[in-house]
Amino acid sequence: MQKRVYIAYTGGTIGMRRTTYGYAPASGFLAAQMQLMPELHNDLMPAYDIHEFDPLLDSSNMTPADWLKIAQDIAHHYDDYDGFIVLHGTDTMAYTAAALSFVLQGLRKPVILTGSQIPLCEVRNDARENLITVMLLAASYPIPEVCLYFGSTLLRGNRATKVDAMGFNAFASPNYPPLGAVGIDISINWDDIQPAPTMPDTLEVKTIAPAPIGALRLFPGMPAGIVRNMLQAPLKALVLEAYGVGNGPTRDRDFVDALREASDRGIIIIDCSQCLRGSVNLHGYATGLALAKAGVISGFDMTAEAALAKLFYLYSQTYSVDTIKRLLQSNLRGELTRPD
Ligand code: ASP
Repeated sequence: MQKRVYIAYTGGTIGMRRTTYGYAPASGFLAAQMQLMPELHNDLMPAYDIHEFDPLLDSSNMTPADWLKIAQDIAHHYDDYDGFIVLHGTDTMAYTAAALSFVLQGLRKPVILTGSQIPLCEVRNDARENLITVMLLAASYPIPEVCLYFGSTLLRGNRATKVDAMGFNAFASPNYPPLGAVGIDISINWDDIQPAPTMPDTLEVKTIAPAPIGALRLFPGMPAGIVRNMLQAPLKALVLEAYGVGNGPTRDRDFVDALREASDRGIIIIDCSQCLRGSVNLHGYATGLALAKAGVISGFDMTAEAALAKLFYLYSQTYSVDTIKRLLQSNLRGELTRPD
């Protein structure tokens, strides 16, 4: 039987058209372009349905409300398709991929995000390959995960980060091996793919909503007052992008006091490294241990994108601060590896 894939088209460069004010999404344009692609009518290709979101968004405008909308759309069509494709702008694709991985609980079918750096309507583009390959992947490779496919590489969605604003290999997952590589053959690294969940039996969409959550990238000479201001109400949680294995300027007493006071007030501060590769270890240096003593918790090897999406997700459930802290440091969907 011919396989079927569902395409949730949310916007992004892939379907944009040229206008006098630059590339912009246009309703119906991508579907019309796809109709003209002979490859998509080949017998080897799955049947597909496209659902175009309204409005089509440049992904810079995405919010947690859009993440939930995408998840609900997938859940609504879950039983009718073999796999799901989310066409999305590249700018915030890693955040959406991470958020979907948390929100789609009990996922047993592939959900693959892709987009492109050059729109499908241009003669030279990366959209065509990304689109065709992702349709084959979603149809015939039963990967029970939210993935991101780009530039011949299949990545775990909540491990991905955008590393190139111009190149076709725009995404990497520096702390987790690629789930697949596409060359002459499509080769899937099944050993690195999570087993299908045993619970819950059916797909459940957990809620996710906007919350007062922040991110702060440390830099030498950052005034402690900025950190203190940021940690004021209504902030509930902060992703602290710290140096190396999670270190910070702990000779600055005001800085450490600001963190401690906020942590004592129940604000969660999670430490993620500014480095692309490697894990936070707050016991490696005095400049890390002092943060841990002030109440900062380790984000281990999570990307800042995954940490932010996870915070939005956890704050949208009815969990206590202690539970959120525990779950933040636990591996929920393959987003984090704890050292032994
Ligand atoms: N600004 C675009 C977006 O994220 C970039 C892209 O799609 O590549 O929607």
